[in-house]
Amino acid sequence: DRIISSEADQSEVTLEQSLRPQTLKQYIGQDTVKNNLEIFIEAARLRRETLDHVLLYGPPGLGKTTLAVIIANEMGVNIRTTSGPAIERPGDLAAILTALEPGDVLFIDEIHRLPRTIEEVLYPAMEDFCLDIVIGKGPSARSVRLDLPPFTLVGATTRAGSLSAPLRDRFGVLSRLEYYKEDHLKSIVKRTADLFETQIDDHSAAEIARRARGTPRIANRLLRRVRDVAQVKGNGEIDLALAKEALELLQVDRLGLDHIDHKLLKGIIEKFRGGPVGLDTIAASIGEESETIEDVYEPYLLQIGFLQRTPRGRVVTGAVYHHFGMEVPAP
Ligand code: ADP
Repeated sequence: DRIISSEADQSEVTLEQSLRPQTLKQYIGQDTVKNNLEIFIEAARLRRETLDHVLLYGPPGLGKTTLAVIIANEMGVNIRTTSGPAIERPGDLAAILTALEPGDVLFIDEIHRLPRTIEEVLYPAMEDFCLDIVIGKGPSARSVRLDLPPFTLVGATTRAGSLSAPLRDRFGVLSRLEYYKEDHLKSIVKRTADLFETQIDDHSAAEIARRARGTPRIANRLLRRVRDVAQVKGNGEIDLALAKEALELLQVDRLGLDHIDHKLLKGIIEKFRGGPVGLDTIAASIGEESETIEDVYEPYLLQIGFLQRTPRGRVVTGAVYHHFGMEVPAP
């Protein structure tokens, strides 16, 4: 498993819940998203209405689930959580919707993976708070309309582009989460260290933040590993020397890249002369699925300017040669 994987593994789920900020005030960074939500939430509260449906999109680990929980907290309502792949039949969704209390938040993670037949159940539910159910079969089948309590759907997705247009259009608020800036990640590291009751100095927090790929989930995970080393090799306090030593052990380089990123980038340089090379070819050459590369590995490499997408495929930039201490080839 990659230490810098942006997906949570099973053992992390409970721990992550305990680290989640509970209010917008505690939620660090993402100022645009936060400011917008603050206004919409306040307005809905003043009008005593339910909040409009919210779509949150962006790479894994940036705080989409956390925001859904915060939205429910700020509105003072309950949250029901499910995910696209977990809803297999229209009846599954109907059961969830009819069990909601007025004003509740329904959070659907990976909403782009909802089957089309289920999406269609969602349209009238989102628009008019009702369900159209077909009873019976054949010629005697008829449709009945069932009223639902008003609710707020919060959808999360890593790929807004895979959402069907009719579904996307039914969200009143579309918010895109960005990779976090280093100083925001540093604050997140310090906040988590506080919750762990672990001493950490500024430089060490910054070092962890720098290697966290702009992602709170990874920052918290690196902190946990560094804390382990501090406990075993020191007195539990984290200083810069210790943080660096621990991060070296984890084989995460100073930009947060690990051996798989190295393999991917060096593969493009060595096998394809720096590109352009198609995504599927890259995927095959490092034994990964194209979708994983596109959703999980590549966005960060694009963000730091290490990869470029061109119509003919992916190209590595001069910065990659510099990073590896290689000479940039002449054009
Ligand atoms: P996503 O749903 O986008 O994959 P999560 O909401 O599960 O991400 O967040 C992953 C972890 O990162 C959580 O444990 C949460 O505590 C932490 N986290 C995310 N965003 C923030 C933030 N803005 N401030 C503090 N912690 C955060």
